[in-house]
Amino acid sequence: MRIAILGAMREEITPFLKKFPNYTQEEVGGNTFYKIAYREHELVLAYSKIGKVHSALSASSMILKFGCEKLIFSGVAGGLNPKLKVGDLIIASKLCQYDVDITAFGHPLGFIPESSVYIYPDSQLNAIAQEVAQQKGIALMEGVIASGDSFVASSEKKKWLIKNFQADAVEMEGASVANVCHLLKVPFCILRSISDSADGEADVSFDEFLEHAAQTSADFVEAMLEKLLPQFT
Ligand code: SAH
Repeated sequence: MRIAILGAMREEITPFLKKFPNYTQEEVGGNTFYKIAYREHELVLAYSKIGKVHSALSASSMILKFGCEKLIFSGVAGGLNPKLKVGDLIIASKLCQYDVDITAFGHPLGFIPESSVYIYPDSQLNAIAQEVAQQKGIALMEGVIASGDSFVASSEKKKWLIKNFQADAVEMEGASVANVCHLLKVPFCILRSISDSADGEADVSFDEFLEHAAQTSADFVEAMLEKLLPQFT
């Protein structure tokens, strides 16, 4: 089984490279892909660079060029649901692109013709994440993740995202990766650790907690791999 592990920023992938220091690397489309032998399986790791376009390209490369059969996104996000505190984890129950707007033609916000507002992750991967959470004794929220090409750092924008999309967390890559995986029929899971609360202090919080939150997410993914891969040996 070949599994893709994707992050957006270097800091989100560094914890994995420390865990698995024996890799070969290959460049495609301006990104480095790290290939790691993991028991009888293979991991393909990359950080895409920030945003929906970069992450869509990386996810596509991992699937079409490297033949990845499942994808797990590991990274950080802004919390919108007040239950989410810095360092908490969320997996997406569904994802949307909140910055898609062709409402001028009577379509709902976030809707693209021949597509849908929400894209749904793989229920088996999400179930494995819940098992890991239970084992670790941590609460893992399963909620709506809204993605768009902006760093959200205001209470007004938070309210807007909650009102229009019932979003629990916001980031800049999940929905684009979800779309690619959905269209290419590759099961996926989007995991995020909270780095900030997407409010007026989000930038300061992000800088302070990025590394810690990225590590939390990576540790969790490693535990998911340990549960997932024995099923395919
Ligand atoms: N400090 C960085 C930019 C970070 S952009 C720099 O200067 O280069 C924020 C990244 O973390 C994105 O990859 C996004 O997916 C995630 N993220 C965390 N908090 C977010 C928020 N409040 N709004 C949007 N994205 C957020």
